[in-house]
Amino acid sequence: MNIEKLRKNLETKGYRTTYFETAQEAASYLNEEIDQVTVGMGGSVTIQEMGIYDSLSAHNTVHWHWAGGTVDVAAQAKVYLSSVNGIAETGEIINIDGNGNRIASMTYGHEKVYVIVGINKIASNYDAAIWRARNIAAPQNAKRLGVGTPCAERGDRCYDCNHPQRICKALSVFWMKPGMAGDVEVVIVNQHLGY
Ligand code: SF4
Repeated sequence: MNIEKLRKNLETKGYRTTYFETAQEAASYLNEEIDQVTVGMGGSVTIQEMGIYDSLSAHNTVHWHWAGGTVDVAAQAKVYLSSVNGIAETGEIINIDGNGNRIASMTYGHEKVYVIVGINKIASNYDAAIWRARNIAAPQNAKRLGVGTPCAERGDRCYDCNHPQRICKALSVFWMKPGMAGDVEVVIVNQHLGY
């Protein structure tokens, strides 16, 4: 894994990047950066594991549908936080969504977007990042949610199902930072976070 290559390619594609050795350091940084504003959060095990909902809520107004908020209000926040399902060292950012709120908010509507990435999300190239999003992130999320899809029992791989509870309904690829996305900062953490 080549984090310098990842950072360089992301910066060429219009993103800011920051790097932290630990989730705790990244959480401290985010608490310094994000203060006295409205914050929306996408569904994210990474965010959950970092525990930043509670710390940010102490000095911001935070909307998170995993903590009693709504996606509609989160979509109107000044700042938005999300993770990714895969990111390529060549700079492409991959997400799979069931509802589309996270993809929409990363693309448009917020002044600042923080994309938090544990090293387990990093793949060597575009094809590998797509593969990990479909065959690692999505099945493990299906397993977490306990849906009835064929991947959910073992979380082992994608079966490209047509199950009514399929969680993979939209795939987004950011080849570069979208023109009307806000200031997007990729926060890389040298730990495994989320799926
Ligand atoms: S498409 Fe279906 S089988 Fe594949 S990861 Fe998504 S929910 Fe699971």
